[in-house]
Amino acid sequence: MLFKRSSTAEAEHLVSGILDVLDCLVIVVRGEDCNILYLNTAAQDFLIREQQGFASCRNVCAALFFDLCKKCANRNGDSADASEQFEICDDFGRPYAVTSRGISWLDGKPATLLLLEDIQERRNIEKRLYNLAYLDQLTMMPNRIKLREDYDAIKKRGNLLGAIAMFDMDNFKAVNDTYGHNTGDVMIRRLTDHLNQLPAFSGHLYRLGGDEFVLLYAEEEGRLNTEEDFCLYYGRILRGAFHSYTMPHIKLSCTISMGVAFFPHHGVILSELLRKADIALYKAKNAGRNQLVFFEDRYDTAQKFEDYYVSIRPLLTAGSKTFAYELTESSRKDGKDLSLGDYDRAVDALGLRDLENNFKYIITHSNKLDCKPVLNNLPRDKFVIQMDFGQSITPEELETCKRLNGYGYSLMIDGLRDDKWIDELLKIADYFKFAPGLSEEARSQIICKAPGKTFIATGINTQEAWENARKAGFTLFQGSYFSQPSVIRKEKDVSPLKANYLRLIRLTSTDDYVDFAKITQVISSDVALSYKLLKLLNSAAVGLRNRMSSIPMAVSYLGEESLKKWIALLALRGVAEGKPLELIRMSLIRAQFGELLIPQMNPPRENKYVFLTGMFSLLHIALDMTMEQLMEEIPMAEAIRLSLTTKEGIYSDLIEFFSHYEYANWDEVTKFSEENGLNSDVIYSAYISAHNWYNDLAGI
Ligand code: GH3
Ligand code: MG
Repeated sequence: MLFKRSSTAEAEHLVSGILDVLDCLVIVVRGEDCNILYLNTAAQDFLIREQQGFASCRNVCAALFFDLCKKCANRNGDSADASEQFEICDDFGRPYAVTSRGISWLDGKPATLLLLEDIQERRNIEKRLYNLAYLDQLTMMPNRIKLREDYDAIKKRGNLLGAIAMFDMDNFKAVNDTYGHNTGDVMIRRLTDHLNQLPAFSGHLYRLGGDEFVLLYAEEEGRLNTEEDFCLYYGRILRGAFHSYTMPHIKLSCTISMGVAFFPHHGVILSELLRKADIALYKAKNAGRNQLVFFEDRYDTAQKFEDYYVSIRPLLTAGSKTFAYELTESSRKDGKDLSLGDYDRAVDALGLRDLENNFKYIITHSNKLDCKPVLNNLPRDKFVIQMDFGQSITPEELETCKRLNGYGYSLMIDGLRDDKWIDELLKIADYFKFAPGLSEEARSQIICKAPGKTFIATGINTQEAWENARKAGFTLFQGSYFSQPSVIRKEKDVSPLKANYLRLIRLTSTDDYVDFAKITQVISSDVALSYKLLKLLNSAAVGLRNRMSSIPMAVSYLGEESLKKWIALLALRGVAEGKPLELIRMSLIRAQFGELLIPQMNPPRENKYVFLTGMFSLLHIALDMTMEQLMEEIPMAEAIRLSLTTKEGIYSDLIEFFSHYEYANWDEVTKFSEENGLNSDVIYSAYISAHNWYNDLAGI
C-alpha cells in the first residue's frame, strides 16, 4: 500500500491545510437545513465580517446570496450526486462564480461542496479589455473590430440580408482648423450622442476612425426582396441621420454624406461591402455632400476579374513558417498596371482578409495607389507595399515612399543598391530585397549596417541556397526550396505514427475496387483518425446537410469516389505533419483547382483522378522521397502515376500548369488556357473558389 489510511481527524487536518490557502470561499453542507460541516478560513472570515453564524448555510445564504439556495446541488436537501456551475451576486451586487457538487465527505457520508469565487476583479479586467479592444476611446462607440465580429455573427446565423451604411461628416476639417482639435472631438461626440438616442440607430452604430462611421443592419424577416424595396426601407430609416451637427458658440456646422451597400446583393465579405459603401459615399461627396447614395455596380470602376490573374507566393521564415504572401499579378489586357483596388478585390476574393491569420500581404506599388477610398480599406498592419526599383530610384519615387510611409504602411524595397539613396531607404522601409548583381560582400555589409531591418533572400530553390542565405543573415526566404524534399531518404522507412496515414493513401489511390471494409478497419483502429475524419466530413468544406456519425453512413451519403477524396485529404495532412503548412496548402489548392477546371475544359477530359493527382503531386516532398521512390512505396492508379512521373499522363500538363500559375508565369498560363478552351475568367474563378474551399478547411 502506498498510503496508510488516515483517521478522520488527520484527514480533516490535511484537507483544511489545502483548502485554507484558497482565496475562494469553501463551504461543505449536509441535509435539509444545510448544516455547515466545514468552512475554510476565507469562508469563516467572510461570515464573521458579515456577522453571520456558522450553523446553517440556508440561513446565511438567504441573507447574503439570494439565489444560491435555488441553484445549489443541495437544493432538495439530499446532497445529490450532481454538479452545478453558475454565477450569482451578493446583496451588494458583487458577482461570484459558484461550483456546487455532491461529494462523499470525510465521514464517508454524502455532503455538498460549495466553492464561491469573487469574480469582481476578473469582471473589471474583462470589461477594461473589452472596452480597449472593441470600443472607440473617443466616443465609446463600437469600433471596426467589433463591426467585423458582429458581421461574422450575422453570417454564422445564416440570415445574410441587410445593409451597411458608411457615413462621413462634411467639411469637418474646417471645424478642426478653425476651432481646434478638441472642439472637433466634441463635435464627433455630439453626433454619436445624437444618433445613439434614436432607436433607429442605437445599437447599429460603429466608428471606423476620424469622422467616418458605419451603421449595420441585419434583416430578420426577409420581407425585403428587391433592391428597390431595400432602398425604400433603408432610405426611410437612414434619412433620419441627416441633420446639421453643431455645438454652442461655434458658427460652423457639419452635415453628413452616406453610402449604402446591401448584403448579400453586393457581396458577403465585409471588406467588399465596406469598399462598395465607400464608393457610394464618395459619389455622395462628389454630388455636393449632405446626401445618401445607394451603391450601384456601374459606380465600381475597378476592373472585372477576367482582365487579370493574381497568384500568391509565400515568403517563409527560417523555421519554414509562412510570414507573408506576395500577390503577383499579370498585367491587364488593356496594358495598364493593376491598381490597388484590383489587389483589394483579389484579396477579398481569395478570402485572405477573412482568414484569422497573422500573415502579411505584399503588393507592388502602382500609380493608382494614392486613391483615397481604396487606401482607407487596406489595413496597415496587414499590407506591405513593395516598391520595385528596376533602375536607380528617382527623387519622385523617394517622395512616394515617404508619403506611403506617412499613411502608416510598411514598405518593402525591391532592388536595394549601395548608392546615395541607401541610408534614406533604410530609414523609411522595413523590408528589403537586393538588386541583382550586388556582390555578396556588399550585401553582408548592408545587412550588418541595419540590424533591425528584414532582408529577403529571393530565388531560393534548393536547400543549399537556403542554408547559405540563412548564414548570410537573411531572415525571410522566397523560392521553391520548401517544395523540394529536404533530405532524400535512402531507406523508405516511415515513422510508425504516420503508417496508418500511408496505409490509407495506398487504399484510396489504386485503380482497384476500393475496399471500404478495410478502410473502415484502419480508421476505426485509430481513435484520433476517426475523430478527425468525422470532423472533416461534418465541416463546411464538405457541405453535407446531415451530420455524419459513422464511416458506413458517410459511404452511403457521399458515394465512394467522394469519400475516397476526403480520406486521402486527411491522410495527406497526417503524412505532411511537421512539414511547412505551405506544402499542404499548395497540394490542396492544386487538387481543388484541378477538380474545378476539368469539367470546363474543351476538349473534355476524364476527371476521376484529377483531385488525387493534384493532391499527390507534392506528396513525395512530405515524405522526403523522390517521386519515383514514392511510386514504388505506394502503387497508385495508372492515371495518377503516369501524370506524376511522365509527360504522357492525362494530367501531366495540368501539373505543369499549376506550377506556372504558382510562379506567375502568365504566358504559359495563357497558352494552357487557350489549348484547353478555358478563358481567364473561368481559371481565376476556379482559383478563387479553391482558395475559399481551402480556407474553409484550414480551421479543421
Ligand atoms: P469631406 O467633406 O470630404 O469629408 O472632408 P472633411 O473636411 O470632412 O475631411 P475628411 O473627411 O477628408 O477628413 C477627416 C478629418 O478629420 C481629417 C482629420 O484632420 C480629422 N480627424 C480625424 N480623426 C479625428 C479625431 O479623432 N478628432 C478630430 N477632432 N479630428 C479628427
Ligand atoms: Mg469628412
